[in-house]
Amino acid sequence: MSHSWGYGASNGPAKWADKFPIANGRRQSPINIVPSAASYDKGLKPLKLQYDPKTCLEILNNGHSFQVTFVDDNDSSTLKGGPISGTYRLKQFHFHWGSTDGAGSEHTVDGKKYPAELHLVHWNTKYASFSEAANKPDGLAVVGVFLTIGSDNPNLQKLIDAFSAIRTKGKQTSFADFNPATLLPSSLHYWTYDGSLTTPPLLESVTWIVCKEPISISSAQMARFRDLLFSGDGEAECCMADNYRPPQPIKGRSVRASFQQ
Ligand SMILES: [Zn+2]
Repeated sequence: MSHSWGYGASNGPAKWADKFPIANGRRQSPINIVPSAASYDKGLKPLKLQYDPKTCLEILNNGHSFQVTFVDDNDSSTLKGGPISGTYRLKQFHFHWGSTDGAGSEHTVDGKKYPAELHLVHWNTKYASFSEAANKPDGLAVVGVFLTIGSDNPNLQKLIDAFSAIRTKGKQTSFADFNPATLLPSSLHYWTYDGSLTTPPLLESVTWIVCKEPISISSAQMARFRDLLFSGDGEAECCMADNYRPPQPIKGRSVRASFQQ
């Protein structure tokens, strides 16, 4: 890579291993989930997501995606239960999406690509901070939620309405009183496996929790995501889309299901 990582031909996922050799590691994400190969684990607990809208801080364009960040200096917004032990705090959520409605998710299910995928990123409070947790095998837990084309989603609209203020790389604006629980599907059945960040530095620190049930987004709303730009102010405009890493080798890992098929 001659310049920083991205999703283009010269700096995209196929090139990431040049600077981040862990890209070829043992527990990389995303993966293709094969439901028939996942084992039902009756010991898996229900997810307990407790989010306080008052911890919502700002929305920003980081040049790779847009992200909503949260105050994480206390246990107001947490994830417990599921496959994890202890308490994990919400740090941020962001999305990955395609240039068309036919692709965009990072995880796939039996090869099926969804048009987008939401990631809610939490860190283990047995560590002192997100950055300390981010390189530990049990440091992070990310809840993944697929988006599928359907009716307009009023909860996503609140995000979309903020896009005009963060169109270019590096822009941010305050974003208060948003409850990310409004973005969760009605069923919290999930698959779980040990994986990694899906963007450099690709650290192998993530317990993945991928919800089976997608949430809805209209095709018109999905199109608004693509109005965002990878590029900064004054640079040639480059639409933000296809910001997803393709599935990585499973390398013998097991995928467990919280539900029976
Ligand atoms: Zn992500």
